[in-house]
Amino acid sequence: MKPTRYAEQQILDEDIKNVIDTLQSDYLTQGPQTLKFEKSLSEFCGSEFAVSCNSATSALHLACLALGIGPQSLVWTSPISFVASANCAVYCQSDIDFVDIDINTANIDTTSLKAKLELSRRKGRLPNAIIVVHMGGAPADLEKISELSKEFGFKVIEDASHALGATYKGSTVGSCKYSDLTVFSFHAVKIITAGEGGAVTCNSPELQQKMERARSHGITRDRALLLSDNNEPWYYEQHSIGFNYRMSDIGASLCNSQLQRLDTNIQRRNQIASLYTEKLSQSVFSCQKVLSNSLSAFHLFICQLDFAKKQLTKKQLFEHFQKIKVNLNVHYIPIHLQPFYRSKGFKDGQFPQAEEYYARAFSLPMHLNLTDEMVIIIAGELLNFAKKCK
Ligand SMILES: *Cc1c(COP(=O)(O)O)cnc(C)c1O
Repeated sequence: MKPTRYAEQQILDEDIKNVIDTLQSDYLTQGPQTLKFEKSLSEFCGSEFAVSCNSATSALHLACLALGIGPQSLVWTSPISFVASANCAVYCQSDIDFVDIDINTANIDTTSLKAKLELSRRKGRLPNAIIVVHMGGAPADLEKISELSKEFGFKVIEDASHALGATYKGSTVGSCKYSDLTVFSFHAVKIITAGEGGAVTCNSPELQQKMERARSHGITRDRALLLSDNNEPWYYEQHSIGFNYRMSDIGASLCNSQLQRLDTNIQRRNQIASLYTEKLSQSVFSCQKVLSNSLSAFHLFICQLDFAKKQLTKKQLFEHFQKIKVNLNVHYIPIHLQPFYRSKGFKDGQFPQAEEYYARAFSLPMHLNLTDEMVIIIAGELLNFAKKCK
């Protein structure tokens, strides 16, 4: 079998052609391809706006800034995510805390969330924003979180880095029906790629304007917004501190090409997931639970095994798969247990479901270069490994 990683990009001739066309055009950085991508992405998601940028990390930063997250703020997120979901709050000098997950869905547990909100209200400090992660592409319980956001007065940012093409109760993730802003990643391992890239969708022109300005040094050239009535053709003004978070037209042209195959991309990922699920049913392994009202984008295919109970280790599983050149992975080491977050006072045992999930979870290969045959071999190897179970 061909060696495989947990995630791989798929680049077809049409993608290469689109990128070459851009290389031969007048624009390499933010230009017509970027604008086209923003329009297509917001159409796909059903949002008013999309602001492209150079990574989901910068997208998360722009989203926090647009909501006014700053030194007095408190942001909550899931401990089971990539560190970027928490780091964006730290960029804004905000306080950060976590909400435990539901071990079956790997997403924020809305019962824990409600309990933590009630406790925090009694203590007199509620979060300003919650960053909701759609783990592996499976939507979190957005409606419930949106209800809580109204009751407790916090903003909602969806970290949909895994979830481009996912749906929740019939609405596309990114529509912001249940949130203020939604962030996507176009890193090479994600659902579609720009090489490196990200975007934020929203329905508020104020948020869009703030993010566009922060994306490019805090500068505006919009005549209507200038403080001076200077009309010299080169004139621009910097109104706030900003960054260079722009997406390149080279990356956008790759996304534009890949976005056209998104529906078949998601269908294929769901087929692979069904095949794994079928082969692993009746086994010691459990697959990530997707809410019955949702369609997962399946960026990841996450399995769990109670290694301790079976007197096996995850390292043994990884070594077993290395022999057939299959690179498994783990998503994720709980963020609060990273040395940086421990140095802020977080400790073992604070988010027990997340920690137990981490002990059990691993990710099987999930990408468009997988054949059914490969999926069947990988599932078969897992079942072989399970024979070692006590
Ligand atoms: C990949 C990822 C990010 C960061 O994406 P980049 O585009 O690499 O900056 C943020 N959050 C989650 C959940 C991710 O998986």
